[in-house]
Amino acid sequence: MSERGFGSCARYVQRRGEIGRVGQHLAALGKTALVIVDPFIEKTYGAQIDASIAETGVTVQKIIFGGECWEGEVNRIIAAAGDSRPATVAGIGGGKTLDTAKLVAEDLGARILCFATVASTDAPTSGLAMRYFEDGCADRPIFLPRNPDMVIVDPDLVVKAPVRFLIAGIGDALSTWYEARSNRDSRSKNYVAGGQGMPIAGMAIARACHEVLMRDAMGAVAAAREGIVTPAVENIIEANTLLSGLGFENCGCSAAHGIHNGLSILPGCHSKLHGEKVAFGTLCVLVLEDRPQSEIDEVFDFCEALDLPTTLEGMGLGDASTEDLRRGAAASLNPGEATHATYAELTTDTVLAAILAVDAMGRARRS
Ligand SMILES: [Zn+2]
Repeated sequence: MSERGFGSCARYVQRRGEIGRVGQHLAALGKTALVIVDPFIEKTYGAQIDASIAETGVTVQKIIFGGECWEGEVNRIIAAAGDSRPATVAGIGGGKTLDTAKLVAEDLGARILCFATVASTDAPTSGLAMRYFEDGCADRPIFLPRNPDMVIVDPDLVVKAPVRFLIAGIGDALSTWYEARSNRDSRSKNYVAGGQGMPIAGMAIARACHEVLMRDAMGAVAAAREGIVTPAVENIIEANTLLSGLGFENCGCSAAHGIHNGLSILPGCHSKLHGEKVAFGTLCVLVLEDRPQSEIDEVFDFCEALDLPTTLEGMGLGDASTEDLRRGAAASLNPGEATHATYAELTTDTVLAAILAVDAMGRARRS
C-alpha cells in the first residue's frame, strides 16, 4: 500500500536524575501546568519535584492521582482545574496516571508531558489512553488526536520499583515485533490518524525492539533486581517504553493483545499485570499463525527465563473451566478487537485451541 502514517511523541528524554529536572521540562512547554502525581511518587519525590519547579517560576497546580483511569477521575481533575486553562498537563507515575493526564490534557486543550516512573508498559509515548471503569475492569481505548509533547523516563526510579514491573514491560514489548509482523502480513491499518498503512520506520523500530530484548533482557533484569543501572537496563527501558510504544502505534497490535483482552474478562487473571498476560498472548499468536516450532520454542525459552507466564496456571487461570476459556476466546473476537489484525483463521474454536495448545506446551516443558 502506498499511503502511510507515522505517529510519535515529539520528544523523549531518558536520563538518570530526571525527577529533579521536572521544572525545566514544564518550563519548556509553557508558563502554567497542571501536574497529576502518583501518591507514592509524591510521598517519595514530592519535595524534589517541588524544588525543581520553584527554580523555574512555572505556576503549577498539583493534584494527587486517585488510582484509576476512569471517567469520574478525569472529570474530578478537570473540575479541580476550574477556569485555570494550564498550558501543560503533566502526569508523573505509572501507565494509569499518564493515561489520565492525556485525557485531561485533551479536554483542556493543553500540551501533554508524560513522566514515566516505571517501565512496565509502552503506554507513555502513544496517542491513546486505556480507560477503565471505577472497579478496574477495562472500558475501552480512547484514540487521541495528538501524541504527548514530551516523554521522560528516569532510570534511577525504574530500578527502585519492584522488578516485576520491568519484567512485565518486557512481556508487553515482546509482543511488538510479532504483532507488527501479523499486521504486515494481513495488511492491516495502524493507529495513526484514524488508521494508516504501516511506515517503514514502524517496522524498523519493531524489529529493533525485538533485537534489544533478545540481547539485553536477562542482564537488565539481573541488574535491576539489585537496583543497579547498567547499559543493558537503559537499553531495556528504551525498548519497553520508546521502541515498543512507537512499534505498536505505527504497526498495530494483534492477537497477543486481543487474547489478553479476551482472557481479562475472567477474574482469575486480574492479579496479573498487562505485560505478563500479553506475553502469554504472544505465544498464542505464534500458534494461531502456525509459525515454526523453533520460533515458538525460542519465545518459550525467553518467557521461562524471565518467569513470564507460559501456562494457564501462570496466568492465574489454573482453575478456569473450558467453558470459561471459551468465553474468553469469544471475547477476544469482539468487533474491533486487535485479534482481527492476524491473517489466521479466526473462530472461537481456533483461538481456544491456540490458548489450550500453549498451556499444554508450557506444562510439558515444565515437567
Ligand atoms: Zn500492551
